[in-house]
Amino acid sequence: MLTLSHVHQLFSPETCQTYIHALRWKDRPLQCPRCQSQDVDPWGNYHYRPGCKRYWCNGCQRTFNDLTDTLLHQSKRSLPYWILATFLLCLSCSSRRIARELGVHGRTSYRWCWWLRNTAVSYETGRQVEGTVEADDLYHTAGQKGQARQGGKKALGRRARGRRKKREPGRGHYDKDRPAIIVWVSRQGAVVIHATKDFTVQTVQKAADLAVQPMFKGSA
Ligand SMILES: [Zn+2]
Repeated sequence: MLTLSHVHQLFSPETCQTYIHALRWKDRPLQCPRCQSQDVDPWGNYHYRPGCKRYWCNGCQRTFNDLTDTLLHQSKRSLPYWILATFLLCLSCSSRRIARELGVHGRTSYRWCWWLRNTAVSYETGRQVEGTVEADDLYHTAGQKGQARQGGKKALGRRARGRRKKREPGRGHYDKDRPAIIVWVSRQGAVVIHATKDFTVQTVQKAADLAVQPMFKGSA
């Protein structure tokens, strides 16, 4: 089987640092992650982390860098590992495949995938959308056992035993392992996703209060 193993060794850690720096501060000014002060000064480099700049915060009198308060801060693996792992995860690669590409242990990549997904969904959970907001709902079945990867029935070569979890038609409910998922999309581009227990007026209203800035409320 063709693999791309160890592509990360072709990346340079300096380029990755520059990329992370651009990503982290692209829509806000450089500020201290601890006290949000923008009164910061350059404070040298790290000899063991090439390309990573250090800053001094005049607000809380401590240093920080582009990785402070992120998942990558304490990692002993260099940035190219993380960038490639994130890239492969976004391409829906399995954690086992990622382990093979990176040359790390399967348990390491499993943990990384979990952390990366968790960080992605918990990023700015308190975010609110503004402007004209559209909402849509769907019911996601928790667990796809017995389903082919592309949906539909799996070719088994025998009669199905019919042990797949039975679903009632119509709207789902948290208690039936089929929570309602509401997506709020602002026409300005921001998206907020909520998983709710059902789709009653009260639940939707509560979710709307969390997701949409009150003075702009309206839906289509
Ligand atoms: Zn500070």
